[in-house]
Amino acid sequence: SLILSIESSCDDSSIAITDIETKKLVYHKKISQELQHSVYGGVVPELAARLHVEALPKILEECKEYFPRLKAIAVTNAPGLSVTLMEGVTMAKALSISLDLPLIAVNHLKGHIYSLFIEKEEVLPMTVLLVSGGHTQLIEANSLNDMKLIASTLDDSFGESFDKVAKMMNLGYPGGPIVQEKALKGDENRFELPVPLRQSPNIEFSYSGLKNAVRMKLEKLEKEGLCEEDVCDICASFEKTAVAHILQKVKKLFKQKIPKNFAIVGGASANIRLRTAIEELCKANKINLYLSELKYCSDNAAMIGRVAVEQYKNKEFITVDKIDVKTRLKEF
Ligand code: ATP
Ligand code: FE
Repeated sequence: SLILSIESSCDDSSIAITDIETKKLVYHKKISQELQHSVYGGVVPELAARLHVEALPKILEECKEYFPRLKAIAVTNAPGLSVTLMEGVTMAKALSISLDLPLIAVNHLKGHIYSLFIEKEEVLPMTVLLVSGGHTQLIEANSLNDMKLIASTLDDSFGESFDKVAKMMNLGYPGGPIVQEKALKGDENRFELPVPLRQSPNIEFSYSGLKNAVRMKLEKLEKEGLCEEDVCDICASFEKTAVAHILQKVKKLFKQKIPKNFAIVGGASANIRLRTAIEELCKANKINLYLSELKYCSDNAAMIGRVAVEQYKNKEFITVDKIDVKTRLKEF
């Protein structure tokens, strides 16, 4: 018995087919639109939706052979860009009706958390750091339907700040991997940047101040002409500070209570500096650290399928007239 899952919440068109009993992936494909959005320095929603219209049916054609064994259709319905979510949801509705299969609506953020458990058993409870393009959150994940938000960002997200810093220097999109690459060659101590909310006793995040500090340094440098060395040094100093901010707040959380299990998920969890810093912190505190495989950090349908397997077992279905897309979610 298989589940077909669809992901289209942002700029990745992806479909997976997961075996309900073994949790193994029978099929998984993703077509990324990064190149098409790169010239704009960010995702253009209308363009993204059009590209999903092209890509999703193309992928679907490839997995027709599995249709007879399908037991349910799952799709990301929130949070994300409404026009792109709609493409996946519309396809899921059509499949549900034509194949006469139940429909499962999946929360994209739970998907990122379950990227840890693709082709594996779930390990919960767990404290999770979710760092992605739209979110920077600390979550107490007790079970699939018992997740509590502990902290989030007051403004920009961790991943978004990499995108914006890259855009300031016309480095392309997504900024995360590009800034990380340049940072490796740069001097992280050349520019002094303020660690956000350093004095605040609260566990919360903020990236707009750091972004503006980078902008000001760049404006100064640009007067004399920005060279490659400047770019690399800015990237290194920025990345160091962005990670230091996360680390400070996670340390604060561990002061309150040391969790048994901790995890980092989301597209920006691919960041090596962040992974290394958290690895050391968890080791020092004897916390089990879980990381998603690099290929499952960014958006994909395999993680949606993994959540769907649990929802299928719980019989958490939704009807075609009830399913709706949501840009943001207040609660899990
Ligand atoms: P959300 O999941 O919050 O809806 P999203 O799905 O758009 O947002 P993801 O695909 O999970 O986000 O992650 C993409 C983000 O991760 C981008 O902002 C990208 O720059 C960032 N990112 C990717 N790799 C790295 C890296 N190595 N370092 C820092 N950031 C990174
Ligand atoms: Fe995502």
